[in-house]
Amino acid sequence: MAKKQFKAESKRLLDLMINSIYTHKEIFLRELISNGSDAIDKLYYQSLAEGKTGLSRDSFRILLEPDKEAGTLTITDNGMGMNKEELEKNLGTIARSGSLDFKSQMEAGKEGDIDIIGQFGVGFYSAFMVSEKVSVISRAYGEEQAWIWESSGADGYTIKEAEKDDVGTQVILKLKEDTEEENYSRFLEDYTLRSLVKKYSDYIRYPIQMMVEKSRPKDIPEGEEADPDKAPEYETYQELETLNSMVPLWKKPKSELTDEDYNRFYKEKYYDMADPVRVIHTNVEGVVSYTALLFVPGQAPFDYYSKDFEKGLTLYSSGVMIMEKCPDLLPDHYSFVRGLVDSQDLSLNISREMLQHDRQLKAIAQRLEKKIHADLLEMLHQDREKYTEFFRHFGLQLKFGVYDRFGMNKDQLKDLLIYHSSTEEGMVTLSEYVSRMKEDQKAIYYACGESVEKIDRMPQTEVLKDRGYEILYMTDDIDEFAIQILGEFEEKPFKSVSADDLELEETEEEKKEAEKKEEDSRPVLDFLKECLEDKVAEVRLSHRLKSHPVCLTSRGGLSIEMEKVLNAMPMEEKVKADRVLEINASHPIVDKLIRTYGEDQEQVRTYAQLLYDQALLIEGLSVEDPVAFSNRVCDLMTK
Ligand code: ADP
Repeated sequence: MAKKQFKAESKRLLDLMINSIYTHKEIFLRELISNGSDAIDKLYYQSLAEGKTGLSRDSFRILLEPDKEAGTLTITDNGMGMNKEELEKNLGTIARSGSLDFKSQMEAGKEGDIDIIGQFGVGFYSAFMVSEKVSVISRAYGEEQAWIWESSGADGYTIKEAEKDDVGTQVILKLKEDTEEENYSRFLEDYTLRSLVKKYSDYIRYPIQMMVEKSRPKDIPEGEEADPDKAPEYETYQELETLNSMVPLWKKPKSELTDEDYNRFYKEKYYDMADPVRVIHTNVEGVVSYTALLFVPGQAPFDYYSKDFEKGLTLYSSGVMIMEKCPDLLPDHYSFVRGLVDSQDLSLNISREMLQHDRQLKAIAQRLEKKIHADLLEMLHQDREKYTEFFRHFGLQLKFGVYDRFGMNKDQLKDLLIYHSSTEEGMVTLSEYVSRMKEDQKAIYYACGESVEKIDRMPQTEVLKDRGYEILYMTDDIDEFAIQILGEFEEKPFKSVSADDLELEETEEEKKEAEKKEEDSRPVLDFLKECLEDKVAEVRLSHRLKSHPVCLTSRGGLSIEMEKVLNAMPMEEKVKADRVLEINASHPIVDKLIRTYGEDQEQVRTYAQLLYDQALLIEGLSVEDPVAFSNRVCDLMTK
């Protein structure tokens, strides 16, 4: 049969594998064993679902057979097997999204950084990191004919008829020759194989077996006495040994497990380099009984905030995996949580569609949500530094959660939010803010902007700081949207420092003075508005400013920050906030404006443009006509 070519995608990945300089080539064994284990899962699951009792769980195993003379390592499972089409489809193309992600990362110019390989399940092709030729003999469940797939790498593969007595798959690796840099023959040593299985595949639930050489004292033939002066004689013999402990970590009593055990399990299972920040291991007995082992990662996966990310927990029914990623177990706002749920109350032959409506599953999901919430709260109060780090990665998701579904989950999530503050070093919770509020303070003040430093310099914050009020600094696009959905916290309304009414208490005297200023400046304010036409909705005096002459704020529900966010999105229609040009009532500029208005209206027209442009610049927006702006400044300088 003519050689078939790999699909383009696969070929590229294969090239990477063959030429890999990756130091952890040993992971090929983990990948192949886990494929074998998956195949057994499938067969076991199917036999149960079909109500076949012929297959006993005890008969499943994965066998490792090193052959030093032939230079081959054979990995055999008695799982589902593959028929001709499946061999073609599964091994001739990249099957798994993990592999695709891996490839696209590599192509994104990260080729030097081959270490990221560990983050991806690279699957079957990893065999080519250590092999010059790979043969797969497989017989699918329910079929008589077996097939052999063979490939020496990038030049393609062949599939031919083959003989195989039982159902399952046998992967034969012809290892590469040893080189100065790499010792491939170590993968034929009992010792290496045994320690690799322990390291990577200890929790595989089926026995991983290997014939190992052992020695024992020789039996003394009957009728003879052991000679006490002679050292006992030993003989070697072969024994099939199970290399893995098989008991899944989550089935072990918590008291037997160390942080190290959890961390190792997590890192191996999720290909993460960082330890998780939280581990939740819970055993629930009751109407629904289950064990859950959940992890809050220490860092966001590279695709976390992309549409490719799939949330979900692995679902087991009494130790048999029924779904790799069950999305219904996690609400979106906790989609960063990884882990698994094992329950004896779930029926094995349940379909994906049925799962969605499963009452037991819903009950588990609800309890998990509560558990995660409680755990995050605990971290927030016990270890602020750790929580802040967690929030740096996943805080955005919690804020999306507040905003999502018209705020359906806001009550649960509001306690988990933290923000930068104008008065505190670290990030603060809303309830901490409220507990510190001044007696005459009516609202929770917040300011939005690009960075904490920039916000801190905003003219709008001056008067509040002056009164000793704390201001929350918000730098994420979603912040103001989430805050608007929240509306209030502990009955205190949120107020943007740019809102038209800051609801500040004023003394009678202050009020009177303000009214007088207002009256005197009314004509020039109206004129300024006229000059600026529809660039602004209003020009008014401001009492929120201290040293700065002007600022730009907005009227109504849409703020200028929100306008920026919305307009940055790929939407046809652009939105525009109702802008208000505010002029500092206590700044000398007001008197100057009133005076000039009486003498030279054209001059005031220029001032109007200048003040507006300055306000735009302070707000981080660009001026509409930079050349005109610069000319106006020059005119003033040369006057
Ligand atoms: P992954 O296992 O991540 O899906 P692989 O490249 O390792 O990707 O394998 C591709 C597919 O080939 C698997 O999804 C599975 O369907 C099939 N496969 C691989 N190894 C075996 C095996 N030992 N028995 C049955 N099917 C297998």
